[in-house]
Amino acid sequence: MHDPIATKLEELSATPIACNQPLAAYTSFRIGGPADYLASPTSADQVGSLVRAARDLSLPVTFMGQGTNLLVRDGGVRGLVIRLGPGLARIDVNPPRIRAETGAKVRDLCEAAAEHSLTGLEFAVGIPGTLGGALAMNAGAYGGSIGDLVLEVRAVRTDGESRVFGRDDCAFGYRTSAFRAEGWIALEATLGLAPGDADAIRERHRDYCARRRASQPLDAPSAGSVFKRPAGHFAGPLIESAGLKGTRIGGAQVSEKHANFIINTGGATAADVLALIDLVTARVLEVHGVRLEPEVIVIGEDHAA
Ligand SMILES: Cc1cc2nc3c(=O)[nH]c(=O)nc-3n(C[C@H](O)[C@H](O)[C@H](O)COP(=O)(O)OP(=O)(O)OC[C@H]3O[C@@H](n4cnc5c(N)ncnc54)[C@H](O)[C@@H]3O)c2cc1C
Repeated sequence: MHDPIATKLEELSATPIACNQPLAAYTSFRIGGPADYLASPTSADQVGSLVRAARDLSLPVTFMGQGTNLLVRDGGVRGLVIRLGPGLARIDVNPPRIRAETGAKVRDLCEAAAEHSLTGLEFAVGIPGTLGGALAMNAGAYGGSIGDLVLEVRAVRTDGESRVFGRDDCAFGYRTSAFRAEGWIALEATLGLAPGDADAIRERHRDYCARRRASQPLDAPSAGSVFKRPAGHFAGPLIESAGLKGTRIGGAQVSEKHANFIINTGGATAADVLALIDLVTARVLEVHGVRLEPEVIVIGEDHAA
C-alpha cells in the first residue's frame, strides 16, 4: 500500500515521490541511510510546489545536488529530500553569459563554456557535482571560485518565498554562501565569462584534470576534501605529518594518496567516517595545536526512524 503522506505530497506537488530511498546511491561516498521521501523535480515550479506541500504537511525539507560533498548518517533523513539533478539541468549559452538550471553538472558547464570559447570557468573542470551545490558551497580550486562568476541567481526558500540574488546578495565566502546559511534553494543562475581561445581553455582543462588525477584518490568513493583549509596551513600536510595517512576505522580510511580525503574502502558506514573525522581532529589538535573544521556537510540521523 502506498504511504499516505507520499500520496498527499504527490497530489499537492504533482511530482513523483519515492519512499524510503537509500541515499547511499545518491552520494559520491556511497554511504547513507534512507530518505523518508525523495523527489527529483523536473521544473522550478515543481520545486516550489514541493516546498509548499512539505510546509503544509509539516515535513522537514532537505535539498541536495549530486551528493559529492555530503555525508549522510546511517539512520537516513527524515521528511522530504529534494534532489536537484538531471531533471533540472538546462544550459543556455548567450556569450559571454551562461544561464543554467542548478541541477546541471559543473563538468557540463565547463564543456559548454569551452565549446563557445568562453574563459573563466576552467578552474572548476574537475569539481564534481551540480551548479547548485557549487553555488551553495562557493566551490573553488586553483585560485578560482564559482561565486566570482555569478551575475544572478534565482532561488526559493523552504517557506515558499522566491527571490533573485545579485552577486553581492549571495554572501559568498570560503565554502559558504547565503544559500547554505539561510536555506535558499538555488534554481537557476547566470554566470558571466569572457571571450577566450578554445584550444587554451581545453589545454587548461587537461592540465587541471591531470593534476587532480596525480594527487587525489579519484578511483575510490569519497566526498573530496574532508576538512577546510585552516588559516595559515593546509589540512592534508597537517594530517599527514601527524602520521595519519592510511588510518582506518571500519571501512573508512584516510587516503594514502591525499591525507585530506577519507575514502570508503567498501562497506564503510557514516559512523565509521565520523569516528575517523573525530580521531583525525583530535590527533591534529594534539600534534599541531590546529583545530580542523569539516568541509563535508553531515546530514541525517544516527538511527533509523
Ligand atoms: C573527488 C572530489 C573532488 C572535489 N574537489 C573539490 C574542489 O576542488 N573544490 C571544491 O570546492 N569542492 C570539491 N569537492 C566537493 C564537492 O564536489 C563540491 O562541494 C560540489 O560543489 C558539491 O556539489 P553537489 O551537487 O554534489 O552538492 P551536494 O553535495 O549534493 O550538496 C552540498 C551542499 O549544497 C547544498 N545544495 C545542493 N544543491 C543546492 C541548490 N540547488 N541550492 C542550494 N543549495 C544546494 C546542499 O543542501 C548541501 O548543503 C570535491 C568532491 C569530490 C568527491
